[in-house]
Amino acid sequence: MQELTHWIDGQHVHGGSGRTADVFNPATGEVQAQVPLAAKDEVDAAVAKAAEAQPAWGATNPQRRARVMMEFVRLLNRDMDKLAEVLSREHGKTIPDAKGDIQRGLEVVEFCIGAPHLLKGEYTDSAGPGIDMYSMRQPLGVVAGITPFNFPAMIPMWKFAPAISCGNAFILKPSERDPSVPLMLAELMQEAGLPDGILQVVNGDKEAVDAILDNPTVMAVGFVGSTAIAEYIYSRGCANGKRVQCFGGAKNHMIVMPDADMDQAADALVGSGYGAAGERCMAISVAVPVGDATADKLVEKLVPRIEKLKVGPYTAGDDVDYGPLVTGAAKERVLGLVNSGIDQGAELVVDGRGFSMQGYENGFFVGPHLFDKATRDMEIYRQEIFGPVLTQVRAQSYEEALGLAMDHEYGNGTAIFTRDGDTARDFAHRINIGMVGVNVPIPVPLAYHTFGGWKKSGFGDLNQHGPDAFRFYTRTKTVTARWPSGLKEGGEFHFKAMD
Ligand code: NAD
Repeated sequence: MQELTHWIDGQHVHGGSGRTADVFNPATGEVQAQVPLAAKDEVDAAVAKAAEAQPAWGATNPQRRARVMMEFVRLLNRDMDKLAEVLSREHGKTIPDAKGDIQRGLEVVEFCIGAPHLLKGEYTDSAGPGIDMYSMRQPLGVVAGITPFNFPAMIPMWKFAPAISCGNAFILKPSERDPSVPLMLAELMQEAGLPDGILQVVNGDKEAVDAILDNPTVMAVGFVGSTAIAEYIYSRGCANGKRVQCFGGAKNHMIVMPDADMDQAADALVGSGYGAAGERCMAISVAVPVGDATADKLVEKLVPRIEKLKVGPYTAGDDVDYGPLVTGAAKERVLGLVNSGIDQGAELVVDGRGFSMQGYENGFFVGPHLFDKATRDMEIYRQEIFGPVLTQVRAQSYEEALGLAMDHEYGNGTAIFTRDGDTARDFAHRINIGMVGVNVPIPVPLAYHTFGGWKKSGFGDLNQHGPDAFRFYTRTKTVTARWPSGLKEGGEFHFKAMD
């Protein structure tokens, strides 16, 4: 059994709390490793070491810091296959999905190579007589990130790459369900030239999170995970005077207008609804066709596509569409919600409950499900399922479809499929959701834009990556400087000392 560690001060450090958690291979259901769960004193020691290392890193010029990121990108590409293998073995997603996970993190690292430009301040010449004014962005000091299981490479990089590029030291508390890749990323950052102590990986659960939230040296916390925990972390972190941004759960609707290209819409729904087993915060989990004729047509197109999906372990090859869920508990929760949908009267058009795979009977696989005729009050519509379950809710008009997405408590992503520019434009303008796709099912902004949801999907006022990340991980200092002129009008010096 593999014993995982923390990564403190540039070294693997064994856990000292005596508490550990099981890390599974979701495809087989076997426990493959134990991860230590840090106690408060271990977190506090990691923060203290980071605080010692940070001033020198903060004083390193931004171009040198950017060079570490440049080298890190090279190393990520060098080790892509190895990282993807470890990621798939702990998370369950396919190898192409694991590479996508790493790639979308890598792109944010690439964006961070522009830190010298992004950190440039502002300057006003002659704001008054002999007065100039300038603002500079300075690092906060020690900052932290608490990340979810579903993107164990991408989201840690979204957090630590901008924070470290800004000159901060970073405490990463990754998900205890798939902690190996974050540890490998920390090793690669060291190999890329990052000084020890600037990136600390502390594994753990609530106890470690609370220790981060209560540690007065930690100046800012970025969180990604479920909404209940996001709300908890936001309120406790803010009460302790920290800068906090928390990104939570989602229930992303895709509106399908009667004029949409139905094949394109069906392909998009299958890819975005079932890809990565639905364990994506930008997955489309609700299809909202407008009109019964559109709904019937969509079901007709969806069913054969869903029945063709290949579910299996990542080792079964690149034509596997999706793998198992992350844990047995996640599987039980998803199947419980499917049963609630049946009990509450939704029509189960595709039933994946009986899915089983020879040789992998103990894996956490769930076959694909499609519900039709679900309604607003049902649990399958209200809750984020986070599994391979697509729920269709029929709307009779565009306004009704728009209202459904607007009224839902989550506001991460959404999409509309239509051929009508006027409808698409109205939708993009009026919808109260942070990321919108027009004939694009998963509208994840690229690294140089920002990523963030509205309503119960995001707490705090700045987004992840893009320019917002550089605002979140720095604070602005504005200097007003007065240097009365030493020059007479004719250009001669008149300061005594200069005579
Ligand atoms: P989670 O909320 O269970 O865990 C997230 C992190 O919080 C982990 O590091 C975990 O150790 C920690 N944590 C768990 N329970 C805690 C507690 N009681 N107190 C303090 N910390 C605790 O989320 P998850 O299951 O790992 O990830 C899936 C969720 O993340 C989904 O809801 C998904 O939508 C969301 N997500 C959101 C985004 C986004 O950008 N909005 C992106 C990815 C995932």
